[in-house]
Amino acid sequence: MKIVRTIAELPLDLTKSTGLVPTMGALHEGHLELMRISAQENDLSIASIFVNPTQFAPHEDFHKYPRNLERDAELAASAGIDLVFAPSVEEMYPRKTTRIEVDEVTALWEGERRPGHFTGVATIVGKLFNIVRPTRAYFGWKDLQQCLTIRRMVEDLNFPLALRLIDTIRESDGLAMSSRNAYLSSEDRRKAPALYESLLLLRDTIVIDSEKFEATLASAHKSLQARGFEVEYLDWISLETLRPVRSVSFGESAIIIAARLGTTRLIDNLRLS
Ligand code: AMP
Repeated sequence: MKIVRTIAELPLDLTKSTGLVPTMGALHEGHLELMRISAQENDLSIASIFVNPTQFAPHEDFHKYPRNLERDAELAASAGIDLVFAPSVEEMYPRKTTRIEVDEVTALWEGERRPGHFTGVATIVGKLFNIVRPTRAYFGWKDLQQCLTIRRMVEDLNFPLALRLIDTIRESDGLAMSSRNAYLSSEDRRKAPALYESLLLLRDTIVIDSEKFEATLASAHKSLQARGFEVEYLDWISLETLRPVRSVSFGESAIIIAARLGTTRLIDNLRLS
C-alpha cells in the first residue's frame, strides 16, 4: 500500500474516476464498507487518514484519538483502496486564515454542543476535495449532521463531485461502529446497544401510532438515564430543517441521539422516509 504524506506527491489523473474516503483513521468495518463501495465505483480510490485538529474543541479527545497508520493502511488495502493520503497537520494547515462555514444545518444538535466542529469539518473536507479532485466522495450516515453539512457545502459552493452517503454499519448487537467505541469499559460496552434499541423503539412507535411518540420519547429518556447514560439529546427531526417533527407528513426525517456513557460520547440515528 502506498502511503503519501504530501499534497505534491498525490497523483492527479483527471481522465480516471477517483473515489475519496475521508477518515480520521482507527479504521473499522464502517470505514471499510465506504472504501469497498468506492473501489467498486471508481478507477482509483484514495482514503485520507487525518485526525483533523480544527474539528476538536480544546477539551475534546484530539490528543488521545487512536492512531495506528500501518494497521490502517493494511486494512484500507484489503478494502480495495489504492492509496492512503496521510498528511501532517503542518501540510494541511500551514496557516489557518480561511474557513468554510455552513449555516442552518449546523445550528442545532451537534453544532450546538460542539461549537466550531462543523466549520472544522467543512474546511478540511473542502480542502481534501480541492486537493484530491474526486469524482465521488464517500461519507457515512452514522454522522448524519456531518452528511447534511457536507451536502449543503457541495451544493452551495458547487464542488464538481457526486456525494455518496452510506448506511451505518453496526456490530452484531446493534451498536453503531465507531472509533470511539474503543474508549468504552467492558461494562459500558455491554450497555451501549441500548442506544440503538431506543431508536428502534421510537421508530416502531412512529410507524404504529405516532401520537404515542412523545410519551415513548419520555420513557426512553428515563430508561437510558436509569441505565447510566447521560442523554444529551434524543429527538425526531426533519432532515430538511433539522427541527423536531411529530408527523411523518414532513418528508424525510430521522431519530437522533447523543449520549455519554462514562467519559465516552456516542451518537447514533435512524432515518425514516
Ligand atoms: P471518521 O473516521 O469517524 O471521521 O469517519 C470517517 C467516515 O466513516 C465518515 O464519513 C463517517 O460517517 C463514516 N463512518 C463512521 N462510522 C461508520 C459506520 N459505523 N458505518 C458507516 N460509516 C461510518
